[in-house]
This record gives sequence, C-alpha cells and structure tokens, in this order.
Amino acid sequence: METKFKDMGEHYLLNGAKMWISNAPFAQVAVVWAKNEEGRIHGLIVERGMEGFSTPETHNKWSLRASSTGELIFDNVKVPKENLLPNKSGLGAPLGCLDSARYGISWGAIGAAMDCYDTALRYCKEREQFGKPIGQFQLQQKKLAEMITEITKAQLLAWRLGNLKNQGKATSAQISMAKRNNVDMAIKIAREARQMLGGMGITGEYSIMRHSMNLESVITYEGTHDIHLLITGLDVTGLNAFK
Ligand SMILES: Cc1cc2nc3c(=O)[nH]c(=O)nc-3n(C[C@H](O)[C@H](O)[C@H](O)COP(=O)(O)OP(=O)(O)OC[C@H]3O[C@@H](n4cnc5c(N)ncnc54)[C@H](O)[C@@H]3O)c2cc1C
Repeated sequence: METKFKDMGEHYLLNGAKMWISNAPFAQVAVVWAKNEEGRIHGLIVERGMEGFSTPETHNKWSLRASSTGELIFDNVKVPKENLLPNKSGLGAPLGCLDSARYGISWGAIGAAMDCYDTALRYCKEREQFGKPIGQFQLQQKKLAEMITEITKAQLLAWRLGNLKNQGKATSAQISMAKRNNVDMAIKIAREARQMLGGMGITGEYSIMRHSMNLESVITYEGTHDIHLLITGLDVTGLNAFK
C-alpha cells in the first residue's frame, strides 16, 4: 500500500494512487485505505471535486467490458478530518470488506458456471452430428457429468461457508479457499462448455465466451488465484510464503 496521509492540523493531506478501481470514472465518493505517518491503515472518504483528486479511465479491456474501470490519483488532496472513517483501523478494516466481497464472488462464480453448463446442456440435445444429438456421445456426457459434479461441490463449499458466516465463525482463509476454488471451477467449466458448442461457442449468440472473458478478471480481482493459494498455504503451515 503506497497511498499515505499526513495530519496537517486542519485537515489530512493525501498522496498516492491505485489502479484498477471499478466505477472510478463516475463515482461521486471513493473509500480509500491509506497509511498514516505511523504506518497504520485508516479509511478515508474522498469526494469528487476535491482538488488534486483525479480518476482517469482504463481503456482497452477485453474482460468486464460492461463495467467501467479507472485509476484513483491523489496529488496533495486536502481531506477534511470528518472524512476519516471512525472506530476501525489496521489491516482488519479493509479485510472485513474484502471478506464480504470474496464470499459473494464464491457464489457469483457458481452462477456463471451454471449458465455455461445449462447452455451446453441445451445445445447438446439440439445439435445433431452423425445422425444423433451430440449429447448422446459419451465424451459430451463426460464433460457435462464432470461440470455438474464440480458445480455441486462448489455450491456445498459456499453453502457451508455461509453457515459459518451466519455463526460468525468463517475465517478469511476459508473465504480465500472458496473464492479461489469456485472461480477456478467456473473458468474451467466455461472453457469446456465453449468447446461443446463447437464454432457456435465463440459467438456472441451464446453467453459462454462473455463469461469466459469476465472470469479472467474475477480470477485476478479480490485477490489473485495465486495469492489465495498462499493464504491457504499460510493457514495450514503457519509459514509465510509471500515474501
Ligand atoms: C476489472 C478489474 C476491476 C477491479 N476493481 C477493483 C476495485 O474496485 N477496487 C480495488 O481495490 N481493486 C480492484 N481491482 C484490482 C485487483 O484487486 C488487482 O488487480 C489484484 O489485486 C491484483 O493486483 P495487480 O493487478 O497489481 O497484480 P500484481 O500484484 O502485479 O500481480 C501480478 C501477478 O503476480 C502474482 N504475485 C504478486 N505478488 C506475489 C507474491 N508475493 N507471490 C507470488 N505471486 C505473486 C499475482 O498472483 C499475479 O499473478 C480490479 C481489477 C480488475 C482487473
């Protein structure tokens, strides 16, 4: 985390930047996590129109094209003292938000996988080759059977996590495991489902390529696939492999 703020008495002075922020180009407010002079993380609300605050758009994305993405740049932004989020500081504060978002993603990825599976299932019953529906060939059935098995396993993982969350017992490491596993499952199913549609699979007539491309962002945002693996590794060994 490079973004820092200094206490100037009347206000805070914020400097730094963060790339890859969803909705940055039109958001009216930004919740910014930054370090104070002691290196402690705090949340600050930065408002559009504050001098030194800019939000250039990120162009030429081939994934999540319906979602606007941009950068947040803070160049000596004067942030009023009342814009500091109270009651919470340290890494636990942003991690609390990340845990919720990552848990949501563990379900969202299942939705993408289910749509790919469902599209492939319907297609393979309609498309005929060699005089019969392609769904009658064992290789196609293998793909479908494995897809529905993986989807069911992912649902159980997310459902169990939801139960633990309701009891206040879900850990960040468990959430990492679910986010990582379920997005990986979805991206693999999108690829298999795409193949089941043959050439038609690459067209915009079906939703599979869109899911495939969007999942390429999902596997990176809210913690990358590899970083979540390292979180699980740390959880089981107690040894930090990040640096
Ligand atoms: C479309 C989109 C929208 C986003 N929206 C938001 C948003 O709204 N808010 C927000 O805060 N962020 C957002 N992000 C940012 C996202 O969380 C980051 O892209 C992500 O955390 C990865 O950071 P990075 O892109 O800098 O990759 P890097 O950190 O440069 O990582 C590159 C590669 O190196 C690997 N790597 C990095 N460090 C290590 C290590 N120690 N050990 C092993 N491997 C390592 C990573 O796993 C990855 O594979 C968004 C990203 C995208 C693509």
